[in-house]
Amino acid sequence: MSFKKINRKSEEIKFIADSMLGNVARKLRLFGFDTLYYKNGDDEGLLNNFKERILLTCDKELYKRCVSEGRPTIFVERSEDELYALSTIFKKLNIKPRLRAIRCTVCNGKLRKMNESEIKNNGTIPKNAKLKYKEFYVCMNCGKIYWFGSHWINITKFNKKLNAMLK
Ligand SMILES: [Zn+2]
Repeated sequence: MSFKKINRKSEEIKFIADSMLGNVARKLRLFGFDTLYYKNGDDEGLLNNFKERILLTCDKELYKRCVSEGRPTIFVERSEDELYALSTIFKKLNIKPRLRAIRCTVCNGKLRKMNESEIKNNGTIPKNAKLKYKEFYVCMNCGKIYWFGSHWINITKFNKKLNAMLK
């Protein structure tokens, strides 16, 4: 397998995850990676499109086929262990990921920081969140709003564990 063609800054690496790897796709977006999730599950669609993206697959046959065609592909063991999956991917690419609030974990859209009046006038952000947090981001594609609430603690823990595995 050759990743030589991917001669870009690590942050510009783009992925496409197969239909079994939705959780992995969402996690990669937390680290700012442009990651499509290919829900359809047909191999031909994956093989013939998205060639500028690194394919992540847990399908051994598809993986072998891509390798023989010289396409950048990473085999990801199908498991519930997202830490293991992400460490496999980052080790292969030899990159150290960092958390970046730039991409929607739901739809892969880009996030934009909200300004004060937007936050103030927004009816969907809970009042207590508005009091407690200053930074809010909105997905420019689906409109989902993000802030560094209590769930962020788990994400930073995940990040720590992941980076320990990559040492
Ligand atoms: Zn979105």
